[in-house]
Amino acid sequence: MCGIVGYIGENDALPILIDGLKRLEYRGYDSSGIAVCDGDKVFSVKAVGKIAELEKKINEKNPLNPPFEGGQKITLLPKEGEGGFNIGIAHTRWATHGAPTEINAHPHHDCTGKIWLVHNGIIENYQQLKNHLLEKGHKFISETDTEVIAHLLEDLYDDNITETLKKVLKLVKGTYGLVAFHNDEPNKILVAKEGSPLVIGLGENETIIASDVSAILRYTKQVIYLDDGEIAEIKGDGIKIYDANDSEVDKKVNEIEWDMTQAEKQGYPHFMLKEIFEQPETIINSMRGRYIVEEGKAKLGGLDNIADKIRDIEKIIIVACGTAKHAGLVGEYMLEEYAGIPTEIEYASEFRYRQPVIDKKTAVLVLSQSGETADTLAALKEAKGKGVLTLGIVNVVGSSIARETDAGVYNHIGPEIAVASTKAFTSQLTILALLTVLLGRQRNMSLVTGKRIIEELQVLPEKIKKILDTNENIKKISEKYFSMKNFAYLGRKYNNPVAQEGALKLKEISYIHAEGFAGGEMKHGPIAMIDENFPSFFISPRDSVYEKNISNMQEIKARNGKIIAIATEGDEKIKETANDVIYIPKSLEMLTPILASIPLQLFAYHVAVLKGLDVDKPRNLAKSVTVE
Ligand code: GLU
Repeated sequence: MCGIVGYIGENDALPILIDGLKRLEYRGYDSSGIAVCDGDKVFSVKAVGKIAELEKKINEKNPLNPPFEGGQKITLLPKEGEGGFNIGIAHTRWATHGAPTEINAHPHHDCTGKIWLVHNGIIENYQQLKNHLLEKGHKFISETDTEVIAHLLEDLYDDNITETLKKVLKLVKGTYGLVAFHNDEPNKILVAKEGSPLVIGLGENETIIASDVSAILRYTKQVIYLDDGEIAEIKGDGIKIYDANDSEVDKKVNEIEWDMTQAEKQGYPHFMLKEIFEQPETIINSMRGRYIVEEGKAKLGGLDNIADKIRDIEKIIIVACGTAKHAGLVGEYMLEEYAGIPTEIEYASEFRYRQPVIDKKTAVLVLSQSGETADTLAALKEAKGKGVLTLGIVNVVGSSIARETDAGVYNHIGPEIAVASTKAFTSQLTILALLTVLLGRQRNMSLVTGKRIIEELQVLPEKIKKILDTNENIKKISEKYFSMKNFAYLGRKYNNPVAQEGALKLKEISYIHAEGFAGGEMKHGPIAMIDENFPSFFISPRDSVYEKNISNMQEIKARNGKIIAIATEGDEKIKETANDVIYIPKSLEMLTPILASIPLQLFAYHVAVLKGLDVDKPRNLAKSVTVE
């Protein structure tokens, strides 16, 4: 999920690798490492934390003093007559399997120490492969899923690492961006891709491979984008690329037009927009390998070790803050309606100080993107003190909350860099839906219902793409309203939390006063504020509360309030009441929040841009709230 750099060429690999890693730093990572090969021995260094730590350790271990200061020559030249090329691989890790430690940092190697590789992504069937390799006597050093690939390569090696890799990748399930070399074949480096980006940069007498062009731009603008299923064998004097059927393919060479800052954001002007547009992919990543459609079941590996305990759960308390709290609120509705489990949602900052009555059959579920949210962590400790089962949905592997909970599920969406959360929110909703199916099917949920939810989850990414395609329309609407000083966001049932989240997004990045209300509450007070300068967002897809929403809209309209509606495609009737409409595709009611939240993210984004504000780093806010 994070960064890869690979090098083969006439220049010194190490400075180019380190420079590449630094260019990828913006993506966030928890540890890093390099390995360079001289056709005889491999020089590898890994470190937890910043690249600066890695550089420090390279200096300590560098066999070829003087110290490395990033720039001067460190040559691990191949032995005479062996091609004269330098080879190296480097990695920034965003842990998915195993804590962010030096041992788990990449590159990983086989038992002989000759085969080395770096990997981005997740090997889903790693446990099964690992068990098989352990039986055959392979010795594993790390807890990562990645290491199985090194041992598989060793196991099947037949004097040609390219052919061996092709065989290995047929056995592996999951996602990977992979760069590998075998020290006995020091004139080549191998690259493979499935679901994780990899670009090959063609320099003069050198090739630089990276997970993102920002690590390549300094050296060349000529690149080949690998497609899924492809394997490239790169030698000092040429590249061969094979597709999944082992046929050699002729790839187009592209010219990069981005400069460095554009490249970091993959051409998007802000990380927030990039992350909003990543959602079709992040939803897939959050679901990958986590359901069995035919059985209408969800399988969340992180909960396997407490499978018996979750069968006995009689009540769930979800504890979270901010955006995660809104996701939790949707979770409450899902779990009660579909799993039949009484569920409550609480602010972590309240839960930790009041005296919650929790009995032993209750599970406390905490949600936090960073896994370091101080209030949530404290609430979790409070729950643990009461001896109940604690579960987590967390994005950052090995974070405090991930370590403290009894069991949990990772989001697998890669780092979220913009302060205002977008892709983490929709991922939390996705996982809550899977959790609902898992718990529901252990109770009264029918096969048909389980299947229906999963089938609907599967088509969400396509539906999100359709919404993203309407970005220009959403931008136009934001141009119409961005000078307003107040906004109301209204929704009922599953979309009441979406209203609250929409208002929070606007507050966070545009500093405009916005309030989210349950639709039915408007008439109990807030409606007094409505006039022609106080517009309201209505999240009103065609669902079980649609008619009620329309009535609430009429009440606003009668008071001259402007209305922007988020409605289901094909709903023409809503135009009679709303001033502006943003359409979303039809979905299962419980999953509409995943779709309805996206136009609201885009609206907040455009308003903040129009106001000239720092979208990715709004004032007064921090990405991970580690203070009380
Ligand atoms: N799954 C691998 C690990 O946990 C790779 C993570 C990454 O993409 O950085 O080590």
